[in-house]
Amino acid sequence: METISKASNFIDLELDNGAHDYHPIPVVLERGEGVYLWDVDGKKYFDFLSAYSAVNQGHCHPRIVNALKNQAKTLTLTSRAFHNNKLGSYMKYVTDYFNFERLLPSNTGAEAVEAAIKITRKWGYTVKGIPENKAEIIVCSQNFHGRTSTIISFSSDPGSKSNFGPHAQGFITIPYNDIEALEAVLETHPHVAGFLVEPIQGEAGVYTPDEDFIKKAKALCSEFNVLLMADEIQTGIGRTGSLLAVCGTCSCEGHCQQQPDTYTRPDVLILGKAISGGAYPVSAVLCDSEIMDVIQPGQHGSTFGGNPMACSVAMEALEVIRDEKLTQNARRLGKLFRAEMQAYIDQSSIVLKVRGRGLLNAIVINDSEDSKTAWNICLKLMENGLLAKPTHGNIIRFAPPLIMTEEQLRECIVIIISTLKSFE
Ligand SMILES: *Cc1c(COP(=O)(O)O)cnc(C)c1O
Repeated sequence: METISKASNFIDLELDNGAHDYHPIPVVLERGEGVYLWDVDGKKYFDFLSAYSAVNQGHCHPRIVNALKNQAKTLTLTSRAFHNNKLGSYMKYVTDYFNFERLLPSNTGAEAVEAAIKITRKWGYTVKGIPENKAEIIVCSQNFHGRTSTIISFSSDPGSKSNFGPHAQGFITIPYNDIEALEAVLETHPHVAGFLVEPIQGEAGVYTPDEDFIKKAKALCSEFNVLLMADEIQTGIGRTGSLLAVCGTCSCEGHCQQQPDTYTRPDVLILGKAISGGAYPVSAVLCDSEIMDVIQPGQHGSTFGGNPMACSVAMEALEVIRDEKLTQNARRLGKLFRAEMQAYIDQSSIVLKVRGRGLLNAIVINDSEDSKTAWNICLKLMENGLLAKPTHGNIIRFAPPLIMTEEQLRECIVIIISTLKSFE
């Protein structure tokens, strides 16, 4: 007898009652553990998205879940009207971890980007001396920084942007990885406060810039007294085989700050996603006091930002990254993954290339931008027990949890390659 999937009921409930703001892969998940997910019919999958790199530590990591449970029983929210006994130690822990003087706490990635924009603009007026309302921020085409009305104002994706105007002013777009374009804008625009950039463009399809792009950008920013704002919401916390993508090729466990030849220190660092291991929404802006101290009481805030749940969960999640050496694991497995994929690509016509760093990788499918091939491959991958989703056009991102073992990764490579072969 044919068994009937329970999935369609859940999917219909969403379609009938929710906003149609996403187009998910048609799988309904009910449980997660480590690198695995199970759907409502009990089918097991490898997770190759990790909630857009929020679940670097793996699903339901026991230490992170424990931190969450213990804090949930004790104190969940005070608001910032009062102090709580977790926030200070959290701030000290994270500023030490990433080597910045101050942290501003928030919940989602977009919120942290918004805060970074406000801090940078205010620094532009009060420290750099930009005339009132003239501050500009340089951004890159194909960026993804979130979905608020200010952030979509400088998106180059028409779907994100059109019919949501009027758009916010004060943003200048340059091509990604174009150091000459950056220099040209800086030379002709005296009122630039910051350069907001993803060290690798994840959503755009895992575009890795030239190795020295960020380093050269930082040098230009210093020369023109402009803040380098690194959005590491997706690339940070071990994902790319270094603690941060701005650590470049340095493989140390988060002490790259001592190695200036590889590490590029942003002036403003934006974190989210994996800072909580996916257990709770946590994001943060980090910078030194001469920048952060432009924000005074009443000028920014969030009811949930810096709550004791967020603090306890994030400290544990960051501790797990170090204790389990997930950064090194991502570096090692990433090399293996790209080598194995490249060997397949060399004798196949369905995939054009594989690119990425650490365990943030993507393959480019050999078909037109608007074809359904990448989507159909993802449906087939799902059938074969592996969950991934196309990014823009015909690109599939592969980003498993960083706790994956080599044996598991090899099993996944077999699934991916045999699936691709069925499309040749
Ligand atoms: C996911 C993401 C954001 C937005 O984070 P949300 O938590 O979805 O608001 C911003 N920047 C980058 C690079 C991201 O990957």
